[in-house]
Amino acid sequence: AKQEGRNTYRFHTPALSRAASERLSLETCLRRALTEHEFVLHYQMLIDARTEAVIGVEALVRWQPAGKALVPPGIFIPIAEETGLIVPLGEWVLSTACKQGKAWMDAGIPALIMAVNLSVRQFQSVDVVELVRRVLADSGFPADRLELELTEGMLMDDAKQSIATLNALKELGVRLSIDDFGTGYSSLAYLKRFPIDKLKIDQSFVRGLSDDINDREITATIIAMSRVLKLDVLAEGVETEQQLAFLRESGCDYYQGYWFHKPEPAADLQKRLGDFPRK
Ligand code: C2E
Ligand code: CA
Ligand code: CA
Ligand code: CA
Repeated sequence: AKQEGRNTYRFHTPALSRAASERLSLETCLRRALTEHEFVLHYQMLIDARTEAVIGVEALVRWQPAGKALVPPGIFIPIAEETGLIVPLGEWVLSTACKQGKAWMDAGIPALIMAVNLSVRQFQSVDVVELVRRVLADSGFPADRLELELTEGMLMDDAKQSIATLNALKELGVRLSIDDFGTGYSSLAYLKRFPIDKLKIDQSFVRGLSDDINDREITATIIAMSRVLKLDVLAEGVETEQQLAFLRESGCDYYQGYWFHKPEPAADLQKRLGDFPRK
């Protein structure tokens, strides 16, 4: 219907063309946003389960159009992916996060891990390893403090190629985690072969921990599996004390969620880091 639709009158329903033109204008705005420096990073703490100290932060991109409300990434990341704009945007995110990490080191804030999300296109681009190498060199941020977050989907797409890329990234010394774990369909055989450091249990499971038996069992199983595979495990989206109690009992290593901290700009977080217990 797509090829046919382009020049066919009956497909030009008002709803369709409105969606298409909204999309086009969003794309134009996004391109301008990059040159006008309208993107910002917010950072959310990653918490050590044993000490409840902050061990790192995850960088999360937002779009701040001049004079308008902040736009969450769920709205523009998919469009940036489709249009290829994710490549320069992703490079900006990686570089800004590493520079921020270095600035915090220089300000005397002890060793924080900086977790950065990679998009499918970024991960599958031929020069992702070179990009990471260059950003680390330019920023002076230590490789072993950078953690790249990948999803099962992007790894399983071409598992053999993924293993090669992951190995090359590991050779740079960076840490690797699987984001939204449990929502894709990783094969256990591959999971064992991927040189990853951490699984991040998707928030959809964490949400149901206080009342959904399936979510409890899935979460406990992922934590147990992490033990067997000798991987660190983090629970995302921790919002309540009941969820936390279950995660404590199950032996989860790290937490992330509104219960501990909501993502905020670097300057606000830096002030808070002064008060928060650190490792
Ligand atoms: P994600 O990587 O799974 O990031 C976690 C999301 O959960 C963030 O939403 C965060 O604000 C939110 N969150 C954290 N704790 C809680 C909680 O306790 N409760 C609830 N309800 N939500 C919580 P955000 O910032 O809107 O990001 C959404 C997604 O957009 C991210 O999901 C990630 O997939 C993508 N994203 C964000 N920044 C980037 C980026 O720089 N590059 C790429 N490629 N994707 C990004
Ligand atoms: Ca993430
Ligand atoms: Ca996630
Ligand atoms: Ca997610």
